[in-house]
Amino acid sequence: MYYAVLSDVHANLEALEAVLRDADKRKIEDILFLGDAVGYGPDPNECVELLERRCKILIAGNHDWGVTGLTDLNYFNEYARYALEWTMRVITDAHRKLLRSLPAAKEGKDDDMLLVHSTPREPEKWHYILTLRDAEMNFDYFDNTFCFLGHSHQPFIIEKVPSGELLEYTETARIKKSSRYIINAGSVGQPRDGDARASYIVIGNSEVEIVRIPYNIEAVQEKMRKEYLPYPLIERLSTGR
Ligand code: ZN
Repeated sequence: MYYAVLSDVHANLEALEAVLRDADKRKIEDILFLGDAVGYGPDPNECVELLERRCKILIAGNHDWGVTGLTDLNYFNEYARYALEWTMRVITDAHRKLLRSLPAAKEGKDDDMLLVHSTPREPEKWHYILTLRDAEMNFDYFDNTFCFLGHSHQPFIIEKVPSGELLEYTETARIKKSSRYIINAGSVGQPRDGDARASYIVIGNSEVEIVRIPYNIEAVQEKMRKEYLPYPLIERLSTGR
């Protein structure tokens, strides 16, 4: 078992390429994607194409379904909605069709894992896991050893030990056979935990790690300005908020 787990690329090609370069350096072949290929950023087609080419499993996020009409645009705030309407104008039919075909949850049977974008409890409702209490409740809605998710753009590793106690890690954790885990991969293309670097997860047989990768933020911001994407979406990439 040796995986890279990516989420929330949000049409940020520079960040996606930087993360894939790092995964390649580590010789990771199996890449899993947890949804939100598009929305916010300036390169939806390039990101969908690259993710489709490189990832073993892809699932959908709320922005992916927003672009295809499966999630109502009224669900989104005004900046997200504006960027999605822009995305709908530029995305190719083939890519829209591909996004429409992606499920909101998928099990990786070989390695005892569940992949969702939002929560195992209701993957298609786009709720968030923001607190240990949210996580505690969600452990009852899957029976795999690992649940990987994204959506909040804030990475974490939460371990449930056999006694039921929850432990939280912010960088790395050793994997114990008797424990179960909810792991948030953070966001490749729009981190919101105060660290502007791209975030993704590397998981091997005995350890899981939250990896942070710097990328050319200014190049992405310049493309966003050219497309007149909303200023707050451009600015937040610099602060990781
Ligand atoms: Zn997202």
